[in-house]
Amino acid sequence: MATDTESANTDSKSGSSTEVYDVIVVGAGAAGIGVAIALTHVGVENFLIVDRGTVGASFRSWPAETRFLTPSFPSNSIGMLDLNSIGLGISPGFNMRIEHPTGQEYADHLQSLADYFELPVREETDVISIKKSDELFHVETDDGTLFANNVIWAAGEYQYPSLGEFEGSDMCLHTSSIQKYGELEGDDFLIIGGYESGIDAAYHVAMNGKNARVFDRNLPWGEESSDPSVSLSPYSFERMRNEKFGANVQLFPETSVESVVRNGDVYSLTTEDGQVFSSNTQPILANGFNGSHVFVAHLFEQREDGFPSLNERDESTIVPGMFLCGPSVRHDGHIFCFIYKFRQRFGIVAETIASSLGLETDEFVAAYKSWGMYLDDLSCCGQECLTC
Ligand SMILES: Cc1cc2nc3c(=O)[nH]c(=O)nc-3n(C[C@H](O)[C@H](O)[C@H](O)COP(=O)(O)OP(=O)(O)OC[C@H]3O[C@@H](n4cnc5c(N)ncnc54)[C@H](O)[C@@H]3O)c2cc1C
Repeated sequence: MATDTESANTDSKSGSSTEVYDVIVVGAGAAGIGVAIALTHVGVENFLIVDRGTVGASFRSWPAETRFLTPSFPSNSIGMLDLNSIGLGISPGFNMRIEHPTGQEYADHLQSLADYFELPVREETDVISIKKSDELFHVETDDGTLFANNVIWAAGEYQYPSLGEFEGSDMCLHTSSIQKYGELEGDDFLIIGGYESGIDAAYHVAMNGKNARVFDRNLPWGEESSDPSVSLSPYSFERMRNEKFGANVQLFPETSVESVVRNGDVYSLTTEDGQVFSSNTQPILANGFNGSHVFVAHLFEQREDGFPSLNERDESTIVPGMFLCGPSVRHDGHIFCFIYKFRQRFGIVAETIASSLGLETDEFVAAYKSWGMYLDDLSCCGQECLTC
């Protein structure tokens, strides 16, 4: 196998190639584009981003009314990176003049970044499997095999919904399949899951003057943690206080759904404690996502909670050169599921790869550290740690 260190010709589908990239990034979402910008900043040039859709494809397929929970604000000028920023000097709040962008708006923002940084993105290319042999990653796509010395898995969660958790769940409509709440048929929704997606669904149903009953096995809106990865965001609490939400939404905490059955036009939902709720409207499944890491599980050891086990550089503990970026990153009890959290690890991954290529990284690390984009000390990032 010839190793070609020239920059890749990337924007056209060229099928299999014997070129060996220093890095292939799988996924052109917030994580893939963000870590690619970090690779550019640290001087890595020979890389390729591969996406089965387009840049920001997951955001683009959010329900039309769904907005970011985390606010954007042009706070960069005082040294505080916009919460929804994926890179140094970038502020979606400033670029778009929108505090809570929709998915479509954020996808446009990611596309504008890919254009600005001239990122090498190969779109409409589905990664089917990855294996490492002879020290080289073989990334098999629906358009041929690509080769790389390192792979960054950044394929997200949204396109890997959690389905089939209980009997009849396949009869429900998962939130990730909803294009627009305003266009849903029916007026009495049973919503399974009461975390962010479930509350978002209930809010839009209520704003359309329809009724919703929300079931959750826990009590997400009663959770006392200040970590938004665990409890609801202030944006959701604010919307729950809306008059229409109060009037049209009934909440059923600590209520596990056991099954959904359909008889003619009627859907009946049975809970673990034997209560039955019926509706003529197709129930909404808001129980989250399995995540794409399941797809590359063979390349990582697993933690007890099923997430990939990572070393302190977010690299696989069993396959060197295989990295993970995005919301599935876990270290001990720390959950990096929001952009402002997982972006803190882009610098670590980019530096690790750059160092392996012999590039100088001191300035890069100093800059990323000063913007909170290089979190290498996990001992003090507990959400209740007021002195951090
Ligand atoms: C309703 C909702 C609201 C949210 N609100 C916020 C918020 O306010 N703030 C916040 O920080 N986070 C929020 N999140 C979470 C945030 O959207 C995710 O953490 C973020 O999208 C993850 O980015 P990502 O790049 O890892 O994944 P994605 O954005 O899903 O990108 C992954 C990319 O990988 C591609 N891909 C997938 N599989 C393959 C494959 N096999 N081959 C090739 N390409 C592939 C996809 O096409 C996609 O473009 C929200 C999520 C949801 C669902």
